[in-house]
Amino acid sequence: MKTEGTPEGIERFISPGKGRGLRALKQFKVGDLLFTCPAYTYVLTVNERGNHCEFCFARKEGLSKCGKCKQAFYCNVDCQKGDWPMHKLECSSMCTFGENWNPSETVRLTARIIAKQKIQTEKTTSEKLLSVKEFESHLDKLDNEKMEMIQTDIAALHHFYSKHLEYSDNASLMVLFAQVNCNGFTIEDEELSHLGSAVFPDVALMNHTCCPNVIVTYRGTVAEVRAVQEINPGDEVFTSYIDLLYPTEDRNDRLRDSYFFTCDCKECTTKSKDKAKMEIRKLSDPPKPETVRDMVKYARNVIEEFRRAKHYKTPPSELLEICELSLDKMGAVFEDTNVYMLHMMYQAMGVCLYMQDWDGALRYGEKIIKPYSLHYPAYSLNVASMWLKLGRLYIGLEKKSLGVKALKKAIAIMDVAHGKDHHYIAEIKKEIADQA
Ligand SMILES: [Zn+2]
Ligand SMILES: [Zn+2]
Ligand SMILES: [Zn+2]
Repeated sequence: MKTEGTPEGIERFISPGKGRGLRALKQFKVGDLLFTCPAYTYVLTVNERGNHCEFCFARKEGLSKCGKCKQAFYCNVDCQKGDWPMHKLECSSMCTFGENWNPSETVRLTARIIAKQKIQTEKTTSEKLLSVKEFESHLDKLDNEKMEMIQTDIAALHHFYSKHLEYSDNASLMVLFAQVNCNGFTIEDEELSHLGSAVFPDVALMNHTCCPNVIVTYRGTVAEVRAVQEINPGDEVFTSYIDLLYPTEDRNDRLRDSYFFTCDCKECTTKSKDKAKMEIRKLSDPPKPETVRDMVKYARNVIEEFRRAKHYKTPPSELLEICELSLDKMGAVFEDTNVYMLHMMYQAMGVCLYMQDWDGALRYGEKIIKPYSLHYPAYSLNVASMWLKLGRLYIGLEKKSLGVKALKKAIAIMDVAHGKDHHYIAEIKKEIADQA
């Protein structure tokens, strides 16, 4: 039986060895839209308050703020009204707690799911193929550290949201947080800056591969899924859950830690890109295998050290120092095209952008872009966003023709991933036109 509004050309099915998944019923060409999914619920990240409308995620100047908490910003009264059922969970609480109001984004999103489940008892248009209730929790696979993190989140939920939410028992809350942890999405802008978190049930139906045939992009708070490889009738539709820059072992560590499975895709089996991703310097006296092994270990540690330092708001000058020192050390063994080098260069570029050191950012970006295009799949948001950042840097630094060239490279990928009519592409085309 066909339920009303079921997307055409795709169906839910049982994927051998993978549980449920999504399958194509017809052919999709590169750039074709498979389906869209409005967010079941979502939340704008605290750092983007004032830059984006809390309700529709539109990015514009002169948004008007909530008169009560003065923390939430909207396009107009309609957006403010539309957001109230969710914003009211936080509005008075933010006034009460002031500086001490600091629930994690996971807690904020989960509070909204609980509220939404109260208001909306019918199946939503976000759940045509998979409902929130059906989300996998993998609760039985969580270690003590993960369990404790969930208990901390539950405590924060009680602390900051008790006035407006009726909670179910602790066991159900554990399940809900575990479900959010492995089914939640983050929304990014065209430069891959974090905008917020959301739940897109139908999108969560797709299984993972490291050679995905679709990419998920966002238009406001709606997720769109487009083909980045030709898809034939009967093919499973696969997205990627993770950053595909890294070698097979690292990717699978990440997949096991966050999603509790090991990938068996073509790339994970053949490891065809691993050698280039781990490129060693070609010296007359090449480094010994154990030297390389130690350096890989060091690289993984420094990546974690940097992530922590950033999380704990270490001053940018110190962050940059971690990058430069590690690049120096790794550079004795690794080529500049090695993904661990690229990872630290990317972080350094981010710090330079934050410090408005445009020349510094450009220097790193120019080194990153070529190997990036090599390591990532043909259509990649990581590559598109890097071209975009480079293009905007060039233009800011009066290097017009290089800028226009880079922006056009970004558009070529975004035409496929975002769809030719996406407002991000219109904005970039305007930036190009302004250079004429
Ligand atoms: Zn709005
Ligand atoms: Zn408010
Ligand atoms: Zn894989």
